[in-house]
Amino acid sequence: MIPIAEPSFDEAEIANVTQAIRAGWISSKGKFIPEFEEKFSSWCNVKHGIATSNGTTALHLALAALNIGPGDEVIVPTLTFAATANVVIYTGAKPVLVDSHPDYWCMDPAAVEAAVTPRTRVIMPVHLYGHPCDMGPIQNIARKHNLLIVEDAAESHGAEYKGRKVGSFGIISCFSFYGNKIITTGEGGMCLTDDEALAARMRILRDHGMNPGRRYWHDTVGFNYRMTNMQAAVGMAQMAKIDRFIDKKIQIASWYKDELRTLAAANIIKFHPSMEWAKCVYWMFSIMVGPKAKTGRDELIKALDTEGIESRPLFHCLHRMPPYLSEKAFPVAEGLSMRGINLPSSVNLTEEQVRKVATSVSKVLQARV
Ligand SMILES: *Cc1c(COP(=O)(O)O)cnc(C)c1O
Repeated sequence: MIPIAEPSFDEAEIANVTQAIRAGWISSKGKFIPEFEEKFSSWCNVKHGIATSNGTTALHLALAALNIGPGDEVIVPTLTFAATANVVIYTGAKPVLVDSHPDYWCMDPAAVEAAVTPRTRVIMPVHLYGHPCDMGPIQNIARKHNLLIVEDAAESHGAEYKGRKVGSFGIISCFSFYGNKIITTGEGGMCLTDDEALAARMRILRDHGMNPGRRYWHDTVGFNYRMTNMQAAVGMAQMAKIDRFIDKKIQIASWYKDELRTLAAANIIKFHPSMEWAKCVYWMFSIMVGPKAKTGRDELIKALDTEGIESRPLFHCLHRMPPYLSEKAFPVAEGLSMRGINLPSSVNLTEEQVRKVATSVSKVLQARV
């Protein structure tokens, strides 16, 4: 079976976790946590890192620290993982969905502008499948309407917009280190910010709202969103390899593009494009099954599965699912969601395996199954 994603470990993770366990520091105290926060935040060129139990708690922590709540609106793309909208709902605020840009699949700045109301407080750009959002226009909208930007960079560690890494555009930015993400800590996440007061507030909220100077004294209702030292131990070992992982993802994408170029030229498929202002890190290499293809996306997934190749459809649009229903139209996101597919993108893939996947894709889409 060629998996869609799989973590890549060596002796370094084992040594670090062993060290954490032998030292007895297995919960959320221990040296690996501040080390990992420092390492990852400075790699993103942001001052403060606040490690969390997962990417979803990172996003919720960010909104809680910004006092987002009932009566507020947060603009999120309809084409994203559900956690982006769920965290808005946890706070009592309302997620306002927007359509995707057809060229690069992330939120369309024109749709964002149209969705702003007097209740809007936050824009949450999601850098989808490794491609950054068009941050310039989004920053302009935020400035014009006095809105905050909270980046959901869960899928795009190391992606760049005009030479600057994602995670450095929002007042707070959030990452995930889930098992299939670009680096992993098993479960895990991190909030980044340059704002010292916000960083301090997130540390307090992450730790039950406890006053850091007075044990068991709570000035506010917080959460237990802490990362464990064992997770951070894995994270530190992964940080030594993050640039190599990203280079490999880009290499895999170029192998796919090479192998599938005749299909793309014939309009049978369309690649997930990379804009000239973007460094896409191809968390998931993705294609759209075009109208000239002999079979549809779902048949392709089934056919690949019988050949031992795991793939998956793009996310369902949020506005189609019960908790987030919306009567507005999102034609671009719908088209992507119906016809898009993520192909195996693990950093462990060989050129041989990519060729096998590409050959299977070509065979299926050029003939009826
Ligand atoms: C993975 C992901 C999350 C959530 O991260 P977890 O660590 O799984 O909680 C949030 N947003 C997006 C876009 C993601 O891909």
